[in-house]
Amino acid sequence: MNHFEYGPEGLACEGVPLAKIAAEVGTPVYVYSRATLERHFTVFRDALVAAGVVDPLVAYAVKANSNVAVLKVLGDLGAGADTVSEGEVRRALAAGIPPERIVFSGVGKARREIEFALKTGVAEINVESEPEMNLIAQVAAELGVRAKIAFRVNPDVAAGGHAKIATGKSENKFGVSFAEAARLYANASNNAALEPIGVACHIGSQITDLSPMREAFSKMRGLVEQLLGEGLSVERLDLGGGLGVPYFNNPEPPSPADFAAMVGEVTKGLPVKLAFEPGRVIAANAGVMVSEVIHVHERPEGRKFLVIDAAMNDLVRPAMYDAFHDIRPVVKRAGEATYDVVGPVCETGDTFTRDRALPPFAAGDLVAFMSAGAYGSAMASEYNTRPLVPEVLVDGDKYAVIRKRPTYEEMLARDLVPDWV
Ligand SMILES: *Cc1c(COP(=O)(O)O)cnc(C)c1O
Repeated sequence: MNHFEYGPEGLACEGVPLAKIAAEVGTPVYVYSRATLERHFTVFRDALVAAGVVDPLVAYAVKANSNVAVLKVLGDLGAGADTVSEGEVRRALAAGIPPERIVFSGVGKARREIEFALKTGVAEINVESEPEMNLIAQVAAELGVRAKIAFRVNPDVAAGGHAKIATGKSENKFGVSFAEAARLYANASNNAALEPIGVACHIGSQITDLSPMREAFSKMRGLVEQLLGEGLSVERLDLGGGLGVPYFNNPEPPSPADFAAMVGEVTKGLPVKLAFEPGRVIAANAGVMVSEVIHVHERPEGRKFLVIDAAMNDLVRPAMYDAFHDIRPVVKRAGEATYDVVGPVCETGDTFTRDRALPPFAAGDLVAFMSAGAYGSAMASEYNTRPLVPEVLVDGDKYAVIRKRPTYEEMLARDLVPDWV
């Protein structure tokens, strides 16, 4: 369920018509529903608790939507943060999420990022390779601290979904093998600078079938039991994120309740705490991107292009992953026409969809890209020197800009021309 419904003034986010926000903030613009964010987080956590998972750490994956206001909404409900860069750790801290709930993941953490994480005292640094473990040990020794680490294991299962977001096969760059994990865990336990506290996995994103997750989690359970059997201390099993959401073209994804029931079954009786890193399932359907139609351009041979003021730099998922977004008129219209929906950027890839049946549109109409709250604004860029798209948070009848659109002056001021040019 979400909080985007048609009212007397067209499609609204909670109590605020999108047309009102578009008029006041301009387009393109991302609009998020606080109630939906809160609902998704609560449903996810409560499902786990109902399935018998005691005190789960639900570390929201910051990269899905990293706005500090969004992080604060979730952090205030008890969410932790799964982060993949120093910048994301800083965002989580700025939102008031305590270090004890921050997980630091990522394939290539730089020395200064590790230093920052250790000084901050994050809950767990997820180690992705042996050289990374060695670097963490070195930095921790220099700082005179003991680094809490978890090993990210690549469980070698295919999660389905798009190849660019599958992470759990051994040919992907993520994590260590089970054999390596066991060897490194034992090594780390003998290193005064390291405190191995657990193991982690994350097999991909937009997963719509529970069976690869079940397979991966069962293998992870086996690893935890093996480590415990060797007398090693294991406090936490981190099962990652990846649960899919409905984009209204896909097979229906499993519900959080089905996911939680599977987790409960697979981990029953295992004497460790569980952590999760959901991103998309929390944020995707909590946001839309609103854009205005600039032209309707009809080719002589009949193809109709809906040229809108949003582009691939604002929402890259269709160009990058062939992703589907439901596109709705902000004001309902009768009838139907078939469009290619395209942006103004000078790339053929700047096409949101082809041959989509939509209501008939005219210049000046507003369209809403649904399910754009995750991997939308977070992946936006200023390609073609287009100002970074702003973000708005709605709460009931009120709303606020939570990221401003930069001015051209601000954008140009970042470029420096040396005096020898
Ligand atoms: C991207 C990512 C997540 C979140 O994935 P979703 O599909 O958005 O739930 C969680 N953990 C790690 C390590 C990630 O890289």
